[in-house]
Parts: sequence; structure tokens; C-alpha cells
Amino acid sequence: MTIRLSLQKSGRLSRLSYDLLTKCGVSASDGPEGDGRLIGSAIDFPLEFLRVRDDDIPEYVHDGVSTLGIVGENVLWERGFGREGGPEVKVLRKLGFARCRLAIALPKEELQGQAKAVWRLEALNGKRIATTYPEVLRDFAKRKELDIEIVYIRGAVEIAPGLGVADAVCDLVSTGSTLKANGLAEAYTVFESEAVLIQTEKPVASTDEELVNRLLQRIDGVQRANRSRYIMMNAPSEAVEEIRAILPGLQGPTIIPIDPSNVAIHAVASEDVFWETIERLKSVGANSILVSPIEKLIA
Ligand code: ATP
Ligand code: ZN
Repeated sequence: MTIRLSLQKSGRLSRLSYDLLTKCGVSASDGPEGDGRLIGSAIDFPLEFLRVRDDDIPEYVHDGVSTLGIVGENVLWERGFGREGGPEVKVLRKLGFARCRLAIALPKEELQGQAKAVWRLEALNGKRIATTYPEVLRDFAKRKELDIEIVYIRGAVEIAPGLGVADAVCDLVSTGSTLKANGLAEAYTVFESEAVLIQTEKPVASTDEELVNRLLQRIDGVQRANRSRYIMMNAPSEAVEEIRAILPGLQGPTIIPIDPSNVAIHAVASEDVFWETIERLKSVGANSILVSPIEKLIA
């Protein structure tokens, strides 16, 4: 028995998807890109990879060609998944990578230094908006009762206003530097997206369901570990309660006596530990503070 998982053949999602799977102990026998082969198998888990364009992943999973898939939420939405009357897949987990937003941006002179909060969507009425997300934009315009013209462009949407084919763009943005380089400024965020793990709604054999659950447990372990930090410090015994209060989501601190008035504290913090927290720990007497990442964290 093996389950099939669809992922992006090559692009922004592929490396990150493999990185997560590798941390889960599921790696491709022919390397991440598989020398362009469509199907690959995992070395140490009964799983087969289907390497395809990200745009095709929702359909493959929907049709049950593939039990699982890793894809950006933006692609699901453009394909109508999750919209009323649209097709369905189960979103098992948000994966926390490939984060981006679909934003409406205008030539910066038009925003005239207005803050995003001040600018009003109605300003889009009568405008031509270039996008690779025509369905999402059409749905958005309908919900917001905007009268816009959608100009569908497959790539490099950001150059459309400069070429005079559109007045504004609706495009995926992560840092915003591409927009800026093209003289555009963000006015509105239509949605925020990240990579998700999806499963078909079609019936799955119980043995396959078990494999899905095993994989999910591993993903949860990796994600928990990504968020957590192992923290060690020495401190005066009387500061233990204060330290407990300072640390974010502290799990089971181990307290080891060093001498009559000092202890060593070892603990797992369920969030990243920032400089400010470390400074507060120092201010209550903690010293020799060591914060390190965690590779796996199984509850
Ligand atoms: P394919 O050849 O598979 O169709 P693509 O060109 O559609 O690839 P990529 O550019 O590799 O796709 O992006 C894949 C996904 O990465 C996007 O659908 C989105 O979820 C995510 N992403 C994250 N940041 C960005 C960004 N700045 N621009 C575009 N996509 C981004
Ligand atoms: Zn694509």
C-alpha cells in the first residue's frame, strides 16, 4: 500500500515542500526534482510523489488521482475550491511556508501617500485591473460591488500599468519589492495565503487513512518543533516563579539544584524566545542563558 502525494514539480513551493517532508522522514529516492520524472517514490515511507504544475494539484487531489497534495491556498481559491458551489477538498493542515498575499496595487502617484487604511476600494470603479487571478478578482469585485474591468495576464502582471494595458494590478506579493521596482504601491489586501496540505474527499482505504495519519503526526511534530525553543539557564532559586511567568508557554521546566541558593532550569518554550524576553530573564537574575532550536517535538 502506498499513498500518492502531489507537489509542485519546480518552483517556489517545491523545495519547501520537500524540506518539510524530509524533516518528516519522507525523502524522494531520486532527489527532490527527480530529474524531471513525473512519479517518484519515497525511500522510507510508503508514499509516491506526483510532480506536477501547482495549478493542476487541486484537480488531481479532487479527482482522487492523488490522495494528498501540497499547494498554495491562492491556487485553491482561483480554482473555486471553498467558494459557494465550488469543488471541495479537505484542508488538513496549514503549513506555514510560501506565505504571500494577493494585493491590489496602483501607480504610487495615484495613492499620493495615502495610508492603506485611508484609501477606499471604490476608487477602483471604472478601472482596468491586470491579474493572473481573474476568478478570485471577479468574486471579490462582486462581493464588494465594484465595477472593474479584469485584464487577464499570465505572468509579469506588474508591468501592465507601465505598458498602459491596465490602471492597477492584483498580484501575489511576498516582500513587495517587485511592485516597488515597478513604481506600484499596495492599496488593499484581497487575501493572505500559505501552503496547505490537502486530501481528497473521495473515500480512502483504511490502510491509506492510517498512512495519512502517520504523516500528519510527523508534520505536527515538525511544526511544533519549529515554533518551540529549548531554553537553559542558571538562576537564583527564589527567581523560579518569576521566570516561569516571563517565559512564553513554558512546558515542564526541569529544575536542578546547583547549590543551596541556585538552580539550573531546562525547559521547552512553545514560541520563539526574543531578545526582550532574555533581557527580562536577566533582570530577575538568570544567567548563562542558552536558547536552541528543536528538531522534533513529540507530545
Ligand atoms: P508552475 O510552473 O508550477 O505553475 P508557478 O509559476 O505558478 O509555477 P511559482 O511562482 O513557483 O508558481 O509559485 C508557487 C506558489 O508560491 C504560488 O502559487 C504561491 O502560493 C507561492 N508564493 C509565495 N510567494 C510568492 C510570490 N511572491 N509570488 C508568487 N507566488 C508566491
Ligand atoms: Zn502555477
